[in-house]
Amino acid sequence: MQQSTNSSITLKPGREKALNRRHPWIFSMAIQTVNGKPELGATVDILDSKGKWLACGAYSPESQIRVRIWSFDQETIINTNFFIERIKNAAMVRHELISQQELTGYRLVAAESDYLPGITIDHYDNTLVCQLLSAGAEFNRPQIIQALETLYPKHNIYDRSDVEVRKKEGLEPVKGLIKGDEPSELTVVKENGVNILVDIVNGHKTGFYFDQRDNRRIAGEFCKDKTVLNCFSYTGTFGIYALKNGAKHFTNVDLSQGALDIAKQNIEANDLDLSKVDFVQADVFKLLRRYRDEGKTFDVIILDPPKFADNKAQLNGACRGYKDINMVAMQLLNPGGTLLTYSCSGLMPADLFQKIVADAALDAKRDAQIVARLSQASDHPIASTFPEGFYLKGLALTVR
Ligand code: SAH
Repeated sequence: MQQSTNSSITLKPGREKALNRRHPWIFSMAIQTVNGKPELGATVDILDSKGKWLACGAYSPESQIRVRIWSFDQETIINTNFFIERIKNAAMVRHELISQQELTGYRLVAAESDYLPGITIDHYDNTLVCQLLSAGAEFNRPQIIQALETLYPKHNIYDRSDVEVRKKEGLEPVKGLIKGDEPSELTVVKENGVNILVDIVNGHKTGFYFDQRDNRRIAGEFCKDKTVLNCFSYTGTFGIYALKNGAKHFTNVDLSQGALDIAKQNIEANDLDLSKVDFVQADVFKLLRRYRDEGKTFDVIILDPPKFADNKAQLNGACRGYKDINMVAMQLLNPGGTLLTYSCSGLMPADLFQKIVADAALDAKRDAQIVARLSQASDHPIASTFPEGFYLKGLALTVR
C-alpha cells in the first residue's frame, strides 16, 4: 500500500464511520495510534484499524479536532496545485452569484464548506483577506498564498488571522499585509448596486459580514414607509437597503462607536437621507427595556446579535439571551409589525431557535406568525458532508 506522507494515524475499530461519510474531522477520541512524529499541521495518512488507507489530513496535536481532512483520494498531493484547484472550484461555485448580484465583496473560500478546512478567504474589491485558523492551514501557508497569487495576480493579500481560536490549534494570532499595498482606511465593496465601506484592518472578522447579504435585501422589502430598529447593527448595512426601499425612519444600535461611525458614512456613500437615521451607542439588552419603559414602538425590528455560544457549555445561556431580546423586541412592535430575528451560533439548531422565539412570543403575550425562514447567503455554501456549515438561521415573523 502506497502512503503519501511520512506519518500516519490509525483509528480505533469502528471509528472510520464518519470518514466513510466524508465528514472532514477526526476527534482525538477516535485515534488508536499516531505512527511517526508529525509536526504541527503536517499532512498525515489516516488508516482504519486494519491498516486500510482512508484519507489524508492535517495533524493538530493540541486540538480536540485532531485531524482535518484534505482529501479522500490517495493520489492527491497537498501542494500549491491542490490549493489552486480547490480555490478555483470555490470561485466556480460562486460565479453566477457574483455576476447576478454584481458583487465585488464576497466570501471566496468558506473553509470546511469548500473542502479547505480552517481556510477562510474573503474578496474585498482588489484585496483578498485570509484567515488561516487551523494548524494545517498555517503549515501550508506558503502554498495557499502562492495559489492565491497565481489565481489573482493583481490582488493585494492581507492576513486577518488575529483570532483567539488559533490558540486551540497551538497557533498565535497574527495579522498584517502579505502582498501588495496596505488596505486603505475604508475599502468600498458593492453588492446589488449598494456601496459598502469596510475597515479591513480593524473591522470584525475579516472586516464585514457577507453572510447576511440576502437577508439585508429581504429585510429591505419589509421596510417601505416603516419605522425600523436595527439591533446589533455593526456598520448599519441593513439600513442602506431599508432606506433604498423607502423606510420612514431607521435606528442603528451597536455597542461599538467605531462601527456606528462607519454606519453613518455608509448612508452618505449611498446618497441616502441622513436625517432619517439615528445612531445609538448602547447595549441592546438594556436599550430594549428602556424603550419598553418609555412606551416607544417600531414597525420593524431586526435582531442580529453576535454568536452567543462558542461551545456546548454556553448553549443554555445563549438560549436565555435569545429569548430575552426576542421577547422584549416583540413587545416593542406595533400590531402587525415585523420581527427579523437571526442566530449565527452554529451550535444552536434551527428548530431550537424557532422554539425559543415561540416561547418569547408567549412571554411577550403576542401572536407571532413565521412568514419567512432565512439562512446564510450562498457564498457561504453548506457541503452535504459537513452539516455544521449551516450556522446562520433567521425567521421573519408578523407579530400582533
Ligand atoms: N447586523 C450586522 C452584524 C452584527 S455583528 C451586519 O449586518 O453587518 C454583531 C454586532 O453586535 C457587533 O457590531 C457588536 O459590536 C455588536 N454587539 C455585541 N454585543 C452587543 C450588545 N450587547 N449591545 C449592542 N451591540 C452589541
